[in-house]
Amino acid sequence: MPDLPPLREVIARHGLSASKKLGQNFLFDEQLLDRIAAIPESLAGESVLEIGPGPGGLTRAMLRAGAIVTAVEMDERCLPVLAELDEAFPGQLTVIHGDAMKLDHDSIMSGKPFHILSNLPYNVGTALFVKWQSGDKWPPLWCSLTLMFQQEVAQRIVAPAGGSAFGRLAVLAQWRSKASLAMKVHRSAFTPPPKVMSAIVHVTPDAEPEGVSPRVLERLTEAAFGQRRKMLRQSLKGMPGALAALDAVGIDPTRRAETVSVDEFVALARALS
Ligand code: SAM
Repeated sequence: MPDLPPLREVIARHGLSASKKLGQNFLFDEQLLDRIAAIPESLAGESVLEIGPGPGGLTRAMLRAGAIVTAVEMDERCLPVLAELDEAFPGQLTVIHGDAMKLDHDSIMSGKPFHILSNLPYNVGTALFVKWQSGDKWPPLWCSLTLMFQQEVAQRIVAPAGGSAFGRLAVLAQWRSKASLAMKVHRSAFTPPPKVMSAIVHVTPDAEPEGVSPRVLERLTEAAFGQRRKMLRQSLKGMPGALAALDAVGIDPTRRAETVSVDEFVALARALS
């Protein structure tokens, strides 16, 4: 393994002060970073897309694990640091300078299967997650997502029905994927520490239920959770066919959205699709 200088030293040498605007909260603990890179099955020889490598802490851990990494970074100040990593792990790292929100991730990865690992910038994390989960093509090209979120967002992604954390994000993340909480990360692990705790979510694609239009499911959850305190017969009133679908599927129209399981939402969407 190449002998790399400590991350704090690299940051100091390159004068990389964390930018709040770019959602920069860096991880320096190499043991923690190695544990994060070990969350998906072995990365040896696997292609990985990383959004926001920053000074490259997680990138190093993945390269050490033998991954072939494509990293998209918006902050050009990080490019010289990443070029050093490229030199240390020849042929394993490609860096793209750009905005991950504007790029087509499947084409960056040359249309071949890939994992996504990222300590996401919080300001774009949820939008990217929704984008990865909303594709028309299923299974998607990504074969796993290992993503850092604010703990509250992570809990909304893996939430079971019945609680206040259960909502659109949970249905989106669970109707054709398996989503679990892989690790909680204390705020003190970051430099600078964010105000809230973080957690890593691990997601793998599952079989897509047959006969369900993703758009219909999306409209259904939007209507149901848009007025989550109301009974379904009220919140779904404006959606043609929804009340008949509740009846056909055997869901009591006096229930509220957060009591409806992911499977029940899927059955409702199938009846409406
Ligand atoms: N991976 C590093 C780590 O774990 O220490 C840095 C993580 S930091 C939370 C998020 C990184 O994403 C920053 O380096 C930031 O510059 C970058 N970033 C923010 N918005 C981005 C965007 N739209 N596209 C690509 N990178 C972005």
